[in-house]
Amino acid sequence: MISIEDALRAITGALETLPAEMVPLSQAAGRVLAADVISRRCQPPVAVSAMDGWAVRAADVAQAPAELTEIGESPAGGSFDGTVGPGEAVRIFTGAPLPAGADCIVIQENIEAIGKRIKVAVAGRANAHIRAAGLDFRPGQIGLAAGRRLGPSDIGLAAAMDNPWLSVRRKPRVALLSTGDELVRPGEPIGPNQIVSSNSFALAALIEASGGIAIDLGIARDNRDSLTGLVEAARGFDLLVTLGGISVGAYDLVRDVLGSRGLRLDFWQIAIRPGKPLMFGECDGIPVLGIPGNPVSSLICGVVFLRPALHRLLGLDDDPIPPASALLGTELRANDRRQDYIRARLSRNAAGTEVATPFSTQDSSMLSVLATADCLIVRPPFAPAAKAGEPVTVIHRAGLW
Ligand code: AMP
Ligand code: MG
Repeated sequence: MISIEDALRAITGALETLPAEMVPLSQAAGRVLAADVISRRCQPPVAVSAMDGWAVRAADVAQAPAELTEIGESPAGGSFDGTVGPGEAVRIFTGAPLPAGADCIVIQENIEAIGKRIKVAVAGRANAHIRAAGLDFRPGQIGLAAGRRLGPSDIGLAAAMDNPWLSVRRKPRVALLSTGDELVRPGEPIGPNQIVSSNSFALAALIEASGGIAIDLGIARDNRDSLTGLVEAARGFDLLVTLGGISVGAYDLVRDVLGSRGLRLDFWQIAIRPGKPLMFGECDGIPVLGIPGNPVSSLICGVVFLRPALHRLLGLDDDPIPPASALLGTELRANDRRQDYIRARLSRNAAGTEVATPFSTQDSSMLSVLATADCLIVRPPFAPAAKAGEPVTVIHRAGLW
């Protein structure tokens, strides 16, 4: 049995970051930058007003009340081409260039204007409400570093820096292969002893949320011919994920079939619950990750192993799931050597602290429990028995499962 960390190291160590492609800004949200975004602009390009008001000489408004004469206007996108002299003011608007001679903005709310006569009610200081040229960014400045997943503010910054196209990592193309004689697709005719296949749908959702493209190859039956045929369909993908059929049962043929195709495969018993058996290797030049079939194991192994694998393909800077802390809602027995991901409900105690209460059943087949779980309590191997009220590490649902 190997640790989760060792398995992860082996998986991510065997994967290489995918090549880059150019995408327009409008399609870049959620993608991972393959090159730094460099500013092509100075922002603001010149000193501008931060408010609607009048541009004046600070010396003229050092004391209030003061009276000035308006000599023109500076609108956003335009300019006032003269110079503001002593006793003069220029009407100005947010984002408009500061006229020569002016070094202070008096905001509209502090002025009474009668025609061109400007009465200043409140004193002003030098540089008040003025944004210096280059306050936000300057040409050549690195706005966003390679390896970053682009959020809305990043897209806005790249646009403001005048980068209409961005270099991002190609999305990983992941083939999903379900296995089992008992499975039918949702909506299909179903026999009395069959169940509806759910893993490929759940894993596809996880893959898309992680920044990949999931293609469902279908359901292989529990015989060599069926599996072989579908494995061949994985050609050209960046990763093949098999679901089920890797345990020790008589019909668990995935290892066998891939192995007989000359594949280099590692099979590990991993110290994780749910999900012990996991397989990783390479088949026809394609990395293969074999995940167990029980739906809860399948999805939790997806979160623990597949998500980091996708991040590695995307060249994403470290993006671990942020662990949080909560108080235990019930007592827990001492843990054995497997790291446990316990499905739990979150509530708050009187002090407002989060309390994680495990569901009474932790069967790895029960999707209804996982779907209701607000968090997973992460119990490290050999964690000692814990009483209600003790702090534990949790990971929040946050779109992960
Ligand atoms: P296996 O890993 O193939 O032994 O499957 C373990 C359990 O998970 C069995 O009860 C299977 O019926 C179930 N299972 C396997 N694949 C799926 C799937 N795609 N969707 C739902 N349940 C599955
Ligand atoms: Mg099976």
